[in-house]
Amino acid sequence: MRKLLIAGNWKMNGGAEFTSDLLSAIKNQKPTISEEVDVLVCPTFVSLSMAIDQLHESDILVGAQNVHEAEKGAYTGEISASMLVEAGCSYVLVGHSERRAYYHEDDALVHKKIQTALAHELSPVVCVGELLAERKEGRHFEVVKTQTLAAFEGLSDEQVVQIVVAYEPVWAIGTGETASPEQAQEMHAFIRSILAEQFGDVAQAIRLLYGGSMKPANAQELLSRADVDGGLIGGASLDAESFVSIIEIAESLSTKTIEPNPSSTSEV
Ligand code: PEP
Repeated sequence: MRKLLIAGNWKMNGGAEFTSDLLSAIKNQKPTISEEVDVLVCPTFVSLSMAIDQLHESDILVGAQNVHEAEKGAYTGEISASMLVEAGCSYVLVGHSERRAYYHEDDALVHKKIQTALAHELSPVVCVGELLAERKEGRHFEVVKTQTLAAFEGLSDEQVVQIVVAYEPVWAIGTGETASPEQAQEMHAFIRSILAEQFGDVAQAIRLLYGGSMKPANAQELLSRADVDGGLIGGASLDAESFVSIIEIAESLSTKTIEPNPSSTSEV
């Protein structure tokens, strides 16, 4: 049984006041957060400490949106893994498509960031996903396979189970367009099959989130798929009511039994 994870990526939206108001609004909705569901918010760096203070004694976890691959040093403007841990973060997003596109983060750099995060016991949420053109050319499985294998290369079983993968088709991020539940399940089963080839049964314990315009209206259908173990949510996580609705949907599905998927053995 994999615990569902509902994660909000707040991107570069709002400073401390915005973060505080949004967290208060989320807490005011009194979401049920059971042992079966993890809830994570990823505010901007400058709001992390405040968010962690405000969420003290709540069941909501806090993560960062990025981490530098080096331990420390002359990297003006960057934030290290130890700083994130000291602030109280337990997760960090790595390789989000916006970072891959705008900051030229490639698979090798994403892998280094994963290693650094793991060395500090920060769980990486590794984002993979194809561009629209790549899907149209029928290359989506190949692209996601390359990204996934590079991310997990050379890691031990103990490290691998700390990692969460977020499948985020780039054409669905912030566009209002969502992968269909069938497309999401197909890719998630494929990712799990790649991980199973590398790591055997350990792959069954790795959580695979879907990201790309998830909202209350489509969350139920997406989250009820066998290999969809949660969501990475951008736009809808900036609205307390929508985010809490998605948490409640996850809670209602949290007892779903996850059967090993026969298609998880498919090959590209
Ligand atoms: C994201 O940026 O990770 C994301 C999934 O955004 P949105 O939900 O807005 O598509």
